[in-house]
Amino acid sequence: MRLYLASSNPRKLREFRQAARAHGLRVEPIPNLERLPEVVEDGSTFAENARKKAAQYSRYVEGLVFADDSGLCVEALGGAPGVRSARFAGERASDDANNRKLLKELRRVETSTKSPRNRRARYVAVIVLARRGKILPEVEGSASGEIIDEPRGSGGFGYDPYFYYPPLGKTFAELTPEEKFQVSHRGEAFRKLFAELKRLVANEKNPSLSF
Ligand code: IMP
Repeated sequence: MRLYLASSNPRKLREFRQAARAHGLRVEPIPNLERLPEVVEDGSTFAENARKKAAQYSRYVEGLVFADDSGLCVEALGGAPGVRSARFAGERASDDANNRKLLKELRRVETSTKSPRNRRARYVAVIVLARRGKILPEVEGSASGEIIDEPRGSGGFGYDPYFYYPPLGKTFAELTPEEKFQVSHRGEAFRKLFAELKRLVANEKNPSLSF
């Protein structure tokens, strides 16, 4: 069975592909995605953005399409950067710039308020499945950790070197891609998506949807 991913992010494609293979699924990027009209990610929630991408891009291919939207929510920052994670330090900001801004904001809050230091943070990923513009199931995954002051590790991307995951005693950047997918927000959301897909196939009894 084949699923189309509504994203041109090669890191996401690689992560999803690897996990999908273990379930007997094939994940392909939507052909010529870069030439299709861009979806503006202006929703106020991850789900709104993921729905928008899934619904719009699923009009361009025959089959099942999924889109994800994800980000980091930091408790002491009232949930920021949240849906603005990719552009926290500005449009097309680098990972470095976003990380610098994250630590600056945390230190600002810590020095300007008398509340105890709180570094709790959560990665969230929402995945939405769609077909011919119609939204099918949507699922959410999350991973809880803490923001540390010094980067550790060279794997992953984005905020990973500063995202410490207590159950493994490592940052996400210190995990192998497989280890990360086992505990990450995206991994959890993908496993839930797979369970939803199985339900969908069973309900539709549609041979083109069978595994
Ligand atoms: P999206 O591509 O719109 O889902 O934006 C995701 C943004 O959230 C990325 O650019 C990162 O800044 C952040 N993010 C989401 N997932 C991860 C992750 O697994 N590691 C590090 N940063 C992440």
